[in-house]
Amino acid sequence: MQTRALLALFASFTLAFPLVQSAQTPAPPSLKMTTKKLSPDQVQKSAIVIDTHADTPQRFVDENFDLNDPLNLGNFNLESARKGNLGAEFFSIWVDPVPNKSHFARRTLILIDSVKQQVAKHPDQMMFVTSPDGIEEAHREHKLATLMGIEGGHSIEDSLALLRDYYALGVRYMTLTWSNSNGWADSSGDIDDTSIPHTKEGLTEFGKDVVYEMNRLGMMIDISHVSDRTFYRTLVITRAPVIASHSSARALCDVPRNMTDDMLRAVANSGGPNSKGGVVQVNFFSGFVSQAYWDAMKAQAPERQKAVDDAKAKAKAESREFTYSDEEKIQRSYMDRISRPPLSMLIDHIDHIAKVAGIDHVGLGSDFDGVSGQLPEGLDSPADLPKITQALLDRGYSAEDCRKILGGNLLRVFREVEAVSKQLQAESRPRITDKQPFEKPQK
Ligand SMILES: [Zn+2]
Repeated sequence: MQTRALLALFASFTLAFPLVQSAQTPAPPSLKMTTKKLSPDQVQKSAIVIDTHADTPQRFVDENFDLNDPLNLGNFNLESARKGNLGAEFFSIWVDPVPNKSHFARRTLILIDSVKQQVAKHPDQMMFVTSPDGIEEAHREHKLATLMGIEGGHSIEDSLALLRDYYALGVRYMTLTWSNSNGWADSSGDIDDTSIPHTKEGLTEFGKDVVYEMNRLGMMIDISHVSDRTFYRTLVITRAPVIASHSSARALCDVPRNMTDDMLRAVANSGGPNSKGGVVQVNFFSGFVSQAYWDAMKAQAPERQKAVDDAKAKAKAESREFTYSDEEKIQRSYMDRISRPPLSMLIDHIDHIAKVAGIDHVGLGSDFDGVSGQLPEGLDSPADLPKITQALLDRGYSAEDCRKILGGNLLRVFREVEAVSKQLQAESRPRITDKQPFEKPQK
């Protein structure tokens, strides 16, 4: 309540200031003092902090992990979210394409259910929401707004019907691809692999239908992971601004998963002519933050992969399941040998994106529980998020700037995606849904 009162004062001060100035009367010193006094903790508490990417659902399903459990090598639980004043989390619905080859939708539905089970178990601490209003409502009730995003268009199994089903279940963004190209959109993860079929222009006709249908439904289009060509193709046709749910800056760390300065600006300009533009949510993974970490990772890749392959073969020989978390443990044991970059390097990415794309186009997409390697020093869970706020304030960012980065920008984009959806649903132009049967022919 203390913080809210301060904010109200701050707002009235800002409004009153031009009048004060014209009358040549200095602002009351008490107000000046109040605005200066906002501590990093107060700024953190005055924000609706939103993280757009945590892979914890893998743990719910594969490890029977409960959000009240201790972190136990993971990054995310309710206690750490509370400590860091996290307001909203988008849990990632990510289907590992290799072990789930013939049943992407099945695994997708299991992961969606796992998120809902957690909310059902912890109704006092979590609230399942599907809208910006819902995020604000959960915030008022001091609960973690719980949302979902699908990571990888392969989850829809070439079916707009499944896309609509996922929307109906509450999914509010979809990353067009994960590291695998899916036939209608290309991934940065395999774009150089000539053994994998790719599209001619970044999106097939069906891929364009997916983008349009997401716009129409009000599902945010997430361009993290896609190839550069798919990125630009998507931006040409989307009517709503896009998000990068977990991507960093390629100028600082040259990896295909990160975004060039030109792409950062393109996200800021995405959407229709009246759009306020999209947002790039910075990924915390050390390999995307620090070039040295990435290079060290690459150097140990053959040895690391051999260890994974050996363990997989052993599990198979013993008729045991080999899960994502089994692989994660092996990957991690290798990456733990590389020293973690300092937190300041992550702040450099936020700073860079704010300078290149603008302060209204940067946010946080941690990738908690989704990275095999370490996060930067001192950043182990949402409990450490206030350190980011502190660092931004130290670099001269205002409280208002921090609130935008911490969640305000994402809320703005989410609202605009909803508004575009309403417009498209009201239009009389032929809709994809009118073209039944619209499904891609089965091979
Ligand atoms: Zn990812």
